[in-house]
Amino acid sequence: AALRNQIAAGEVVERPSSVVKELVENSIDAGSSQVDVTVERGGQGLLAVRDNGFGISSDELNLAVTRHATSKISDVEDLSAITSFGFRGEALPSIASVSRFKMGSCTADAQEGWFINVEGGEVVDEGPTVMPAGTSVEVKDLFYNVPARLKFLKTESTEARRCNQVLFKISLANLETGFSFISNGREQFRLPPNQTLPDRLAVFWPRNICESLLTFSHEAGEMKVSGCAGIPSLAQGRGDRILMFVNGRPVQDKLLLSAIRGAYKGRLISREYPQAVIFLELPPDLVDVNVHPAKMEVRFQDERSIYSIIHNGISQALSRYEL
Ligand code: ADP
Ligand code: MG
Repeated sequence: AALRNQIAAGEVVERPSSVVKELVENSIDAGSSQVDVTVERGGQGLLAVRDNGFGISSDELNLAVTRHATSKISDVEDLSAITSFGFRGEALPSIASVSRFKMGSCTADAQEGWFINVEGGEVVDEGPTVMPAGTSVEVKDLFYNVPARLKFLKTESTEARRCNQVLFKISLANLETGFSFISNGREQFRLPPNQTLPDRLAVFWPRNICESLLTFSHEAGEMKVSGCAGIPSLAQGRGDRILMFVNGRPVQDKLLLSAIRGAYKGRLISREYPQAVIFLELPPDLVDVNVHPAKMEVRFQDERSIYSIIHNGISQALSRYEL
């Protein structure tokens, strides 16, 4: 079981920021209105996520962190199944198999919470604990038992910055949730719940850019694109700032990027760059988000209509302003 989890970990957990992504997405799935993230030494020393969501009951907690405890790798086919299917339900066991892991949770109706300690995939301790409603995860000594992984990490400050960026992006897609990020004891940002997108962006992006954002929303059939786009003549920066989300998840995708760039084509003069945050929403069967969840890649069924909805949505916002 520990081996299988470590193999899955190779896919899900590439670096501290992947742990932040998985844990914070769980917190959001749990309906949290506040999520606090702490890292020390770029997340290699400590990486902690605390939320006020609905929690997980004591009997489910053990299962959630040792999911594959009963399954064994019997042949090569099993191995390829791990790498080719979605990794749903594998994040916690994966993280716990490559760290010293502690998770405590308390549901709203419970008298007390329950904690579990896992080291390198083996449960070493569990029991009742007193804590507020919600869930708290502490990941210490990430990759302590996978030295090959450690070698691929960048400097602590680079890894901390990646954690910061991952949380920033997730926060943009979850405006009703409050977030904080502390690195080496210093608060890097604190975002109150129920902010607007431009207000939240202003914490990270230069003010002149945030003041020049056009908010837009555009629908075509079952699809919808919304977000903010920078006014070309005001959107001068050091380069483009483009963030893309599909069904609420941050993605990196060439098709979306080229549709955004296409909408700005002919509208920019030198030293102007596109600035945009777009949220694409479409029925789940029209997009495959499990191509590689850790790498934020997606694959669309109908690329032409995706291109045109994004291109049209942004073009229309920009030309409304130009009128
Ligand atoms: P997945 O999110 O794909 O179900 P995970 O390994 O990330 O798989 O989490 C396993 C399960 O543990 C979740 O389905 C959920 O029931 C529970 N869980 C994890 N994190 C939290 C959390 N912060 N609050 C409540 N439940 C959680
Ligand atoms: Mg998860």
